Amino acid sequence: MLRIAVQSKGRLHDDTMALLREADIKVSESKRTLLVKARNFPIETLFLRDDDIPATVADGVADIGIVGLNELEEKEADAEIIRHLGFGACRLSLALPKDEPYTGPEWFEGKTIATSYPTILRKWLNKQGIKATIHVISGSVEISTGVGLADAIFDIVSSGSTLVTNKLREVETIMHSDAVLIANKLLDNEKRAILDEMLFRFDAIQSAETKKYVLLNAPAEKVDAITALLPGVKSPTVMPLAESGWCSIHTVIDEDRFWEIIGKLKAEGAQGILVIDIEKLIV
Ligand code: ATP
Ligand code: MG
Repeated sequence: MLRIAVQSKGRLHDDTMALLREADIKVSESKRTLLVKARNFPIETLFLRDDDIPATVADGVADIGIVGLNELEEKEADAEIIRHLGFGACRLSLALPKDEPYTGPEWFEGKTIATSYPTILRKWLNKQGIKATIHVISGSVEISTGVGLADAIFDIVSSGSTLVTNKLREVETIMHSDAVLIANKLLDNEKRAILDEMLFRFDAIQSAETKKYVLLNAPAEKVDAITALLPGVKSPTVMPLAESGWCSIHTVIDEDRFWEIIGKLKAEGAQGILVIDIEKLIV
C-alpha cells in the first residue's frame, strides 16, 4: 500500500483528483474522511492542508504527495521531486504600489515586505545582500500595502489580476512553480513498484495531453504527399476506402503543429479531417 498526501480543498485539489481519476485510480471523495483507500489500486489518499504535505512526505507519514513547488521550497522539506505535473502554474513575485518608482532590488533595503513565504523571500534578500523586514501573514497579502501594513508584498501571481485590483505592480519574479509529485527518500521496493505503476499511467496521460488523433480521407495518388506532411508517432495507418481511388489516413500529431499542417493537408486534397482527443498514449 502506498500513501499519497493530497490537498483536501483549494486550488490543487480538483486537478489532483482529476489526475488520479484519469490514471484509473478510483478514490471516493467524502471530504469528512482524512484517509481514503482507492477501490482498485493499492493506494490510500491522505487529505491535508497543502502546508502540511511537504513535511508529511519527508518524515514518511505519507510516502508520496502532490503539492506546489512553492510550498515545498518554503518548507525546505527533504523530499524527492519525482515529476512536474504541469497544473497549478504560478509565480512568486515582489510587487509595489503601482505608482512607486522602482530602481532595482536595492529599493527593498530597509523596507517592510508582507508575505506568506518568508523562507523563499529571506533567501532571495540574502542573495541580493539586502536587509528588509519580513512581515509574515497567512492570507490576503495583497491588501497589505493598501492598509499600511507593509511597503511591498511578496506573493503568488498567476494572471496578475489580483495585483491590478489592489493597485500593485509586479517588479521581481523570484520563482516559478507548478504542482509536483514528491516522494519520501526511503521508499521500500514494494512501494517503489506501486509508484512506478502510477508513474507509467501519469506519463501515458501526459504524453496524450499534447497530442491529437487525426483521421482524414485522401485521393490514393496523394497519399505519399500527405503522409510526408504528417509527423506521426510512427508512420501513419493508410487504409483503402470503399470508394475506389480513395484512402483513409490515421495518425497522431502534436497539437501545436496541427494548425500549421492543416492548411497544407487541405491543399494536397485531404477531406473529412477529423481531430480527436487522446485519453492515454503509451509510446
Ligand atoms: P490550504 O488550505 O490547503 O492550506 P492554501 O489556501 O494555502 O490551501 P491554495 O490557495 O489552495 O492554498 O493554493 C494552493 C497552491 O496552488 C499554491 O501553493 C500554488 O502552488 C498553486 N496556485 C496556482 N495558482 C495560484 C493562484 N493564482 N493563487 C494561489 N495559489 C495558486
Ligand atoms: Mg496552505
